[in-house]
This record gives sequence, C-alpha cells and structure tokens, in this order.
Amino acid sequence: MDRHRLRARTGENKPLFSGFTTSEIEKMERVLKESRVDLSEEIFKNLARGFNRSAGRAGKPAVKWTEVQSWLLYRQQSHVSKDDQEICAVKNLNESSDTSKGEKAIDLSKLEFEAKSSNDDAWYDVETFLTHRYHSSGAPEVLVRFIGFGTEEDEWVHVKNVRERSIPLENSECNKVMAGDTLLCFQEKTDHARYYDVQVIDIQRKLHDIRGCRCIFLIRYEHNNAEESVRLNRLCRRPEY
Ligand SMILES: [Zn+2]
Repeated sequence: MDRHRLRARTGENKPLFSGFTTSEIEKMERVLKESRVDLSEEIFKNLARGFNRSAGRAGKPAVKWTEVQSWLLYRQQSHVSKDDQEICAVKNLNESSDTSKGEKAIDLSKLEFEAKSSNDDAWYDVETFLTHRYHSSGAPEVLVRFIGFGTEEDEWVHVKNVRERSIPLENSECNKVMAGDTLLCFQEKTDHARYYDVQVIDIQRKLHDIRGCRCIFLIRYEHNNAEESVRLNRLCRRPEY
C-alpha cells in the first residue's frame, strides 16, 4: 500500500522527505553511485535501519524505509533525466569534497562497530576510534566519534562497551530466538529513537504469514528493567548469534 502511494507521489517530481541529515544524504549518494541499477528493498531497509540506529537520528523522527526508497528513486530518476553537464557538476562537487576522505569513509563504515554511551546506556554506531588510553583504574578506553555526532559528543568508552554492530533479525531467524537471549531492541519515542540491550522473557509464537513473523516477544530492557512486547522487526542480534 505504501509503495503504491509512493509511486504516485514520486511522479510529482520532488523529494518526498527532506528530514535527512547531511551524513545520511552523503551515505545515500554513495549507495546511489555504487549500485545505480540494483536498488532493492533490502538496501532501502538496511539504510533506514542504519540511519535510525545512528546517533545522528537521536531526537529526530525515525526514518521509514519507504522514505529512503523514495529519496533514492527520485535521485536516481533525476540523475538519469538531467543532462550531462549537470551530472558533471554533481561529480565535480563530490570530487572537490576530497575523494580520498570519501573513500576512507566507506572503508570505515565497513568496520561497523557500535558503542554504548554511558549517558543513556544506548548503543550508537561508531564512526571512528580517535585514540585510546588507560583509565587511572587501569581500564582500557577508546575515544569514540559517533556517526552523526560532532566532536562535542565524542566519548571515552570502556572497550567492553564496544562491539561489532548488531544485525537486524530476519523473519527466517525467528525460530533461533529463545527466552533468555540477549538482543538489541529499537525503541522509538516521540523525542528519540534508540537501541538498547534487552533480554527476551517470553515468546508468543504465531503462524508466519505473507507479512513475515507475527510472533510477539516480551522483552526486558537491561538499563531500566522496563518490559515491553515487541515484534521481530525491532530486534537485532549479535553477528555470531
Ligand atoms: Zn516469528
């Protein structure tokens, strides 16, 4: 239904959603450059998931994957329909913003770490590790730059609170989830969207249908012990799960 509406609206020939941050737009531009032909639903969903998990989204409304889709499809269309001169102008713009830096950013994003902020116990995507030190207690710490945040938000994080980025659970992985498992859960409130560690308390298994997993997972947030019933699409697993 969403997609239908979307298609009708892209015909209006203007971007549908203008709430993306600069780093989100840069990321989408890179994706566009890299996979001009093969934009898939998977890519849109992954991008949206990545944006919503990044620190830059904190305090902003969550991005819907359909918004990413429409943005990318619109950009793709306008790339194609614009004349060569304009494409060159876009290229030059990208190149003048320091190609080597851009390449580096791609490599860094492939590392894909997340770190837990001691401010709110939520996990944020790491853009880069700036340096490291040993705390006076002897604890090894890294200075983390979070994706979407500036230098003023850099934070010293104990290395045990840094880990490879969690992966959204697929419908087919539902049966792997057991009560007692620790997962990462996306929590969307009016003023923020964050990822927290949660423990699975109970699972109401339901028959999967065309929409995928319909099971209901009762989870408990580790940072405040609050409980909530959530769907699979809000849960992420550890890479080695
Ligand atoms: Zn299920």
